[in-house]
Amino acid sequence: MPVTIVKCSVPGCGGDAEAKIAAPWKDGAFAELKTYGYTCAEHAQTMISYAEKRAKPKSLPPGESLGALGTYALAAK
Ligand SMILES: [Zn+2]
Repeated sequence: MPVTIVKCSVPGCGGDAEAKIAAPWKDGAFAELKTYGYTCAEHAQTMISYAEKRAKPKSLPPGESLGALGTYALAAK
């Protein structure tokens, strides 16, 4: 089985990602995690502040909601 290695999304880092930065997004009955980027152990805060700048749409269509950003540990490295 090939193993997918996800790299940290911070430019110039290149470290293996340990978590993803995502926010729960909901549209009626349909929900998913909206992923903004991946981060190694050192850059979680960097990626969260980066994601916060682009995470806020000016308005969401009725019925949609976007939850708070958080770090989600990757299931497999
Ligand atoms: Zn990094």
